[in-house]
Amino acid sequence: MSELKISIVGTGYVGLVSGTCFAEMGHNVVCIDSDESKVSGLKAGKMPIYEPDLEDMVIRNVDNQRLHFSTNLKDHLQDSDLVIIAVGTPINMKDGGTNLEYIWSVVDEISRNLAKETIVVIKSTVPPGTCNLIQNILGEKCYVVSNPEFLREGNAIKDFMIPDRIVVGCDQKIVGLMNRLYSDHISRGIRVVYTNCTTSELIKYASNTFLAAKIAFINEMSSIAERIDVNIMDLKEGIGSDSRIGNKFLEPGPGFGGSCFPKDIMSLINFSEKINANNSLIKSIIESNNLRIIEVSSNIAEIVKEGDSICFLGLTYKANTDDVRTSPAVSIIQNLISKGKYLVKCYDPLGIESAKLILKDSVEYYDDIYEAARGVSLVVVATEWDEFSNLDSAKLKVVMKTPRIYDVRNVINVKNFKANGFEVRLIGSVNV
Ligand code: NAD
Repeated sequence: MSELKISIVGTGYVGLVSGTCFAEMGHNVVCIDSDESKVSGLKAGKMPIYEPDLEDMVIRNVDNQRLHFSTNLKDHLQDSDLVIIAVGTPINMKDGGTNLEYIWSVVDEISRNLAKETIVVIKSTVPPGTCNLIQNILGEKCYVVSNPEFLREGNAIKDFMIPDRIVVGCDQKIVGLMNRLYSDHISRGIRVVYTNCTTSELIKYASNTFLAAKIAFINEMSSIAERIDVNIMDLKEGIGSDSRIGNKFLEPGPGFGGSCFPKDIMSLINFSEKINANNSLIKSIIESNNLRIIEVSSNIAEIVKEGDSICFLGLTYKANTDDVRTSPAVSIIQNLISKGKYLVKCYDPLGIESAKLILKDSVEYYDDIYEAARGVSLVVVATEWDEFSNLDSAKLKVVMKTPRIYDVRNVINVKNFKANGFEVRLIGSVNV
């Protein structure tokens, strides 16, 4: 493979993982971020995020001199074959649209310092039409490419290295270069779907919206199942075995969250309204998820009584990440404490520090499961961390006020808890 010189702007979950993986595949990469503390930390070997296997891969590629860190795009612009933009595109709180300020700031910097033909790849999730706008701003000296990222936090390295497909929206002239960028993937038979920029941008929103719809659907099925003595896990197997449906993203739980699904669906709703497109199904996904969080909060409130303490195991929006952005666990806790009736005690293997920024001192934080559960009337398993499938029910019973557990991820060893005299409630089945 002929190596490319790549600058990646934005060294967060997507930028750092993509940059490190491109370096691992033999490219020469500089990851750029405006956050000086993040860059100096990375230069000193300190990871700004948790992602399985990331640290080892970063260190290996820094040692090989294929991975570098910088705060200055200008220094690297002239020397790069490709500039990849992976900055955040958060929700615009005013109208539910996408806040593109970080994208525009990078585009502006490129435009001011452009001295040669440059390929600018947009990896951030942006509304359809954004790449065309960027192309207009940067003009003929640039080729703008859409290359949305589909990795999942907690599985990011694997998802990046072995994706189901790669999506690229670009002019035919750029296909050769993009094939070089992804030559390692292509050599392993991974398909690159080439299309135009706007289609590529919409593919990203359509994928996330569809996956979120599956989660909202199984959660509504859970709600039905709980009321008529149907076991949701059997139902999941029954429908998921149909290859037209598939069993992925059919895990019942407290609702979807994270940095992407809610904001991307909101963004698609906002975009479709601007163009007067029908979006009733898309809107209902958000509505259903909000109701799900309220439903789970009410279920908890029904189990405990005023003045009780509740222990939350898991704060992140899913396992194997430290990300608590729009985590259902956090929203449920906020619902419960807003009523002022309960004391909430929390444990999470990686999410405590980021949760503190949201929940502040409204809850108690523990670095030990059994200390978090001391004196409580209910344990809620809110995130599917592996360690929660191996909870020591006997040890929990000794420290708890009342042996009750509500597993909203269906991961605990039910038989074991029942044998130790626990009152057990799961998601999507009334008869445990
Ligand atoms: P993030 O918040 O983790 O990282 C963004 C980084 O960009 C930050 O480190 C920030 O300091 C940096 N930044 C902002 N403005 C900058 C500038 N002008 N110059 C240099 N750096 C700048 O974001 P993320 O989760 O990595 O998401 C990035 C994009 O990828 C978003 O559009 C998101 O929707 C999309 N995406 C995210 C995921 C995910 O799982 N996190 C998955 C697929 C796609």
